[in-house]
Amino acid sequence: VDTLIRNGLVVTCDAKGTVKRANILIEGNRIAQIDKASEQKTRVPARMVRVIDAEGAAVIPGFVQSHVHLCQTLMRGHADDLPLLDWLRERIWPLEAAHTEKSLTASANLGLLEMMLAGTTSILDMGTVHGQDAVMSACATSGIRAFSGKAMMDAGEGVPKALRETTKHSLQESDRLAKYWHGKADGRIGYAYAPRFILSCTEKLFRELASRLHAPAVASASPLFHSHAAEHPEERKTVRKLLGKDDVDLLESWGFFGDRVVLAHGVQLTERQMKRAAELRTRFVHCPSANLKLGSGIAQVHKMQALGMQLALGADGAPCNNTMDPWVEMRSAALLSKITAGTTSLAAEHAFRLATIEGAKTLGIADRVGSLEVGKRADLAIVRLDGAHAEPSDNVYSKLVYACRSTDVTDVFIDGNAVVRSREHTLLDNDRVVHAARAASKQQRDRAGL
Ligand SMILES: [Zn+2]
Repeated sequence: VDTLIRNGLVVTCDAKGTVKRANILIEGNRIAQIDKASEQKTRVPARMVRVIDAEGAAVIPGFVQSHVHLCQTLMRGHADDLPLLDWLRERIWPLEAAHTEKSLTASANLGLLEMMLAGTTSILDMGTVHGQDAVMSACATSGIRAFSGKAMMDAGEGVPKALRETTKHSLQESDRLAKYWHGKADGRIGYAYAPRFILSCTEKLFRELASRLHAPAVASASPLFHSHAAEHPEERKTVRKLLGKDDVDLLESWGFFGDRVVLAHGVQLTERQMKRAAELRTRFVHCPSANLKLGSGIAQVHKMQALGMQLALGADGAPCNNTMDPWVEMRSAALLSKITAGTTSLAAEHAFRLATIEGAKTLGIADRVGSLEVGKRADLAIVRLDGAHAEPSDNVYSKLVYACRSTDVTDVFIDGNAVVRSREHTLLDNDRVVHAARAASKQQRDRAGL
């Protein structure tokens, strides 16, 4: 079924930042036309067409969340108020070690449901060590566009036995997953190798990944490489003590850098490291809520962008946020920037682009998604602009960034498919997903003895 979305205010996020009242015609998985509503030019072909009236609403590119952990959604509310390394060792790792394929499916479905209802259409996800097929499969079934990959952990203090793997096994299992999943579901699913962070991975592991990353045959459609770096001040101290340098400097010397590498956080980056990341084209993901909740600090987004770094936004995991709401991250990023770089920094339109087209650039998929343009894949959301909390302004970016919320999203399309209609997911049953998550979370905590 093709879809005609009528009379919406289309926020394109194209190079000119065009905003116009128009009809959008979705044919198959692509945007076929964006025409001014008044001109009535939109061709309605003989095929079946679903018509959606978007009067009073904006039509926006779907949000791109470039750092999340679907495997942690079950841990929401069970790891509050702890600093990063304690949070990992006392709660997250023992709980991840207690996952089964069933609990991973329940966790992924809950996170996917939450994010997609809020207008998220693309994610970059980091899994846990075992059972990653369950997460990849949940992504494929939910209709989302996703890069995901198993966490790689071949070292580290305080890592539970069940999560500790040999370098060889970690690489073998990751290669198997990449070979099987990369490009699946009509190209909606991509693989992302995920060495967790420098304290849980050996130099050998990173060097092996670098050899895959810089292999001559690597094309733009190749897997991504996803890790955490420069997150928390205590973590930085530990890394310096153990390894003698900062994580980003070591990763560079081991060959782990470049435009297929996406690193979460960057809160602790020095100006020299920011310049270097820009030169090497290594991408970073700003996760404002997680950085605040774990006491990591505030990333210097304004400075990073001024120095030419490619940035995106992400909610990180449910236990360090605790929502996975792209609206909260976008608003928080804009507000925090006022504190670090002054009131005029990261203005509303700029923050909105960070949550959409800049995310797509970060994941290397901006040729397909991230903006509403004829020929691109139809990944978009319809958002009510007329809630009491958003009226009476007629500045659409002001509404979207500072006033709108996830419950204003009524419809979401990914690859031309209606994955959310009238605030309901069309492929995941809300009650069943929540019920399964409650049961699986209780069993997981019992297994972990928490
Ligand atoms: Zn993370």
